Amino acid sequence: MSNFIKKLQDFDWASIETLKYKDEDGNPSFKGVSRKKLFCEGSPAGIEVRYFEVEPGGHTTLEKHEHTHVVIPIRGKGFALVDKEVFEINCNDVIYVPTWNWHQFRAAEDDYLGFLCMVTVERDRPTLPTQSEIDRKSTRLNSSHLGISYAVFCLKK
Ligand code: MN
Repeated sequence: MSNFIKKLQDFDWASIETLKYKDEDGNPSFKGVSRKKLFCEGSPAGIEVRYFEVEPGGHTTLEKHEHTHVVIPIRGKGFALVDKEVFEINCNDVIYVPTWNWHQFRAAEDDYLGFLCMVTVERDRPTLPTQSEIDRKSTRLNSSHLGISYAVFCLKK
């Protein structure tokens, strides 16, 4: 087997284990997310490429941090929240999350959302919103044209 290529089969890569998205047990900030580390360079400034898969109706944690993300969906469809915008995302879109911007990724209710996410190897830990920053009410955020019918966490105006 070559060290230079990992072949994809059914959104699985031979020899790459599926990891927990986040370590904390019972963390309610996300739902139905798995993580695979596809590639990691051996230096702090090097590139790390992860694959995240969100089950239908699931979502990642709403968070922000100093490091930036480049996200490219390769399976299914869903929605991204970046700063205060929500938009539909589809395969091969390129989503940029600038430094310290709130962000969250959601799968469609009827489809998976699988995406690649590039980061540097050494990076800061995410900051989660405080209780006062979250409006936990069921909210239709920019939803009239997107058809989001589920509750979303959103930032208070
Ligand atoms: Mn993040």
